[in-house]
Order: sequence, then C-alpha cells, then structure tokens
Amino acid sequence: MQVQQHMRKNDLFPLTIEDMAVGGEGIGHDQGMTFFVHGAVLGDQVMARATKVKKTYGYARVEEILRPSENRVPEACPIARQCGGCQLQALSYEKQKAWKEERVKNDLIRIGGFAPDLVDEVTEPILGMEEPFRYRNKAQFPLGKNRAGEVISGFYAVRSHRIIPIDDCLLGVPENERILNAVRDYMQVCKVEPYDERTGRGLVRHVLIRKGFATGQIMVCLIINGSHLPWQQELIDRLVRMKGMTSISVNINRRQTNVIMGDETHCVWGREQIVDAIGDVAFAISPRSFYQVNPYQTARLYHKALEYADLKGQESVWDLYCGIGTISLFLARKAGQVYGVEIIPEAIEDAKANAKRNGIGNAHFFVGKAEEILPKFYEGKVSLAQGAREPEKRARSLARDPAVGSALHPDVIVVDPPRKGCDDICLQAMLKMQPKRIVYVSCDPATLARDLKVLTEGDYSLRKVCPVDQFPQTTHVETVVLMSRAEWHHSSCEEKFDLLI
Ligand code: SAH
Repeated sequence: MQVQQHMRKNDLFPLTIEDMAVGGEGIGHDQGMTFFVHGAVLGDQVMARATKVKKTYGYARVEEILRPSENRVPEACPIARQCGGCQLQALSYEKQKAWKEERVKNDLIRIGGFAPDLVDEVTEPILGMEEPFRYRNKAQFPLGKNRAGEVISGFYAVRSHRIIPIDDCLLGVPENERILNAVRDYMQVCKVEPYDERTGRGLVRHVLIRKGFATGQIMVCLIINGSHLPWQQELIDRLVRMKGMTSISVNINRRQTNVIMGDETHCVWGREQIVDAIGDVAFAISPRSFYQVNPYQTARLYHKALEYADLKGQESVWDLYCGIGTISLFLARKAGQVYGVEIIPEAIEDAKANAKRNGIGNAHFFVGKAEEILPKFYEGKVSLAQGAREPEKRARSLARDPAVGSALHPDVIVVDPPRKGCDDICLQAMLKMQPKRIVYVSCDPATLARDLKVLTEGDYSLRKVCPVDQFPQTTHVETVVLMSRAEWHHSSCEEKFDLLI
C-alpha cells in the first residue's frame, strides 16, 4: 500500500490517541502515519495540529480536546504542561501504573525476546504508591534571570533549558520553597549573579536540596562556577533558621557542560553529610552520592530485591553499582558476605562509614567500574582484603582463601546500573562467575531487556519480574528481576517440595 502523503505542517486533523510513547506523548495514526502528540493522553479524541511532518511519522500538539479520555484527570500542578519534569499528570494514577506495567512487559518481549506467555506468567503487579505526590527527597533547581533582571529558580521547560519559575514542585518537599526563597534573597541582596549557560558567566548554577525523610535532616548545596561564594555568611544566616538544616555546602563546577555537579565539594556550615534511614539501616549521604529519590518506594524495592535474593544467612553476594551501599547493607544482615562495587569514591567512603555506623562487619566495598573490578577480581588481580586499590602483586592466593572462593562463585549477584544498563564486559564476567541467582534492579526497561537477553544466552532463565513505581507522574519505571540457572531453580524447587512432604 502506498502511503498517501498529503499531511503538511500546520494541518489540523482529528486523531484518536491509542497508545503513549516512552516520552509520555500520545500516539495516534492517520493516513498511514504515526503521530506523537504532546499533551494528549491515552483514549483522548483530539483535534491535532501537525508541528513537524516526516515520511512515516510526525509530531503534533493538541488544538482542542474533542472527547476527553476516561483516563484523563485534571493536572494537580499549574505548570504541568510546560515543565519537563512530569509527563503523565493528566493520566489517572491507575492508568499510569497499568501503562508502566505494559511497557515493562512489551520491552521484555520486543527487545528481550522473551515469550509473551512467560512474561505474563512471571510478572507481578506493579507496586504503586498510595499518595503519588511529594515523594522526592531530592531536587536540583537551576537558577537564572527573568527579563526584569530578577533572579529566578525553577525547572527546565520540556526539551529546553528555559527556566520556568516554580519553587513548590508537587513531587518535592514543601521545604524547597523556603530554601529557594532564601537563596534568591541572598543573591539579590549580595548581588551574586546566576550562571548563564550561553555566555559561561555568572556564579550560581544550581541549588541541590535533599531531605532525609526518616530523620528530617536537610542538606543544601550550591553548585557554583567559581571557587567560593561571596558574602557566604549572609546565605548561611538565612538558611540555618530553618528546621532540620544540617549541611550547607558548595560544589565547584566551572565546566561548560550539562552535567550538574563538579568534582570538588566544600562544606561551609554544619556536617558534610545528612543521615537518613531505610528500614532499620541508617545511611549518611554526601552531596554527590547517589541516593534513591523516593524513600517510600525504595523500601519496597529493596524488600523485593531481598525476597528475590532468597538469602538464608551464609550466602556470598555481590552488589554492583552499589552507590552508598544501600542494597549491600540491606542484604548484609541476611547474608554471609557482601561485596559492593561503585564508581564514585565519595559514595564508597559513605558506604564504608555506613557499614560501620550500623555495626555491619560483613560488607566490603570496591571503588571502580563494575566492568573493570569484576573481571580483574575473577582473574585474581584484585584482592578482597584491600579492595580495588591493592596492587596486583599483593593479591592473595585465590586457592587458599575460602572467602575468595565463594566470592568468585557467589550465590547472588545484584546489579542496579544507571539507565544505560550494564556494560557487556560486566555481564560476561557475571556469567563466568556463575551465581545461583542474579537480581537485576533497573531504571530503564529497554536496557534491562537488552541485558537480560545476554544473560539468557548465558544459560540464565527469567523467573520473576516486578515493576515498582518509584516515579509517579513521570514516564520512568523501576523493575526488579530474578534470573537463575536452570539447575539451581529445579533443585531449590525440589528442596521446597521436600519440605512440603
Ligand atoms: N544501588 C544503589 C545505587 C544505584 S544508582 C542504590 O540503590 O542506591 C547507580 C549507581 O551506579 C550510581 O551510584 C553510579 O555512580 C554508579 N555507577 C555508574 N556507572 C558505574 C560503573 N560503570 N561501575 C560501577 N558503578 C557505576
């Protein structure tokens, strides 16, 4: 069939929204073409205006909603449509959850190559939130100026770096607003300039705010394009009045880049870290360390990972991409030994301090890339005792140390990589180590499915999948997956069967 191409830019046409894209746009079809429609939700009938037309697909915006979808709800935030932060506020929370569950399943089938029946059978219902707002413990607000020359803070507009001024994001804590007011007031009074991305001039780039939900402790870090803050005490005086203020710091980033934080952080008031707790494990967190942003759901995510790891007390466990050791320490209480690997040195410092703080002696941490540490460890070039910094020549004899033996062939490997997923070298090293179970915690279903395919080719089978809604109102979805080798799965089933009879 030949595609009739009479559609042009600015054309107006009715469209039924049949699906949603990973970016949250509504998807509809007309005249053999696929349209991505910003502002439309699944089930809407809209009058769409084409904004860009390619050969087989195009982009459009909603000119008028002809018949709103039954899944449509009023947006809770006044700037939901302009802001790039939330993509799904107009979709009912029930439908958001259903859409995320489907997305995980579809990626496993399409990208992972798993059979639809298997995926249906092993996928548990998504773990959603009761109250899907005000869940974020961290926010990073860019600063700039408006036309009148006043300092503004807020969020970037969709697909741009234009700042939309807003201080009270409904995903964040109410304290953000007062803190931003105080920072802007200090800048205005002391004539401290916000950074301008286009010219590379100006000082204050972002304000990072973090709150420990379990402890109430608050951290504020100003990311600056310079070596220090002028009139620093003026800022401190304004911030320390606030309840919970625990740590104020500056982070230096002079590079012209989109990466928010630089390498150097100085504490200017209070402590270098704040403390928070997940379950009964306490964590100290530095400004630059990764820490899960939704503490309510993190506890459920980690419990699911723990359930899939199925620990009895003696197991040897690797936790790759361990951040400040949250999963490692969560599992350590139930395991024999846990080995964490993480690329950011401060996070590993935090992880070690966190182990000590909680009286946990069986967790060991390595600084470095998972794809470098794991193969090196397997080849005997990294020792357990001194972690990654131990020179090769002092590596211990693998054969004589039983702890090394069980670390080489662990019971469980947990991975929790960033969105780009695991490096292939890391996956291959995992396969060589032949753990009984692999627990994959993922924040991107597409790279998850890609990586699971590699593990399947290495003889692991998909046993369980549980999507977790860590980020309501946004298109992001977290997933926990259990993979195991055929022989181990059967033997553990037999064990269970033995117990039953
Ligand atoms: N498991 C932790 C952190 C997960 S986020 C938690 O639940 O809190 C992913 C982490 O991987 C980040 O801390 C990031 O710094 C780290 N990371 C990114 N690339 C890495 C790599 N190649 N090797 C090891 N760690 C990496």
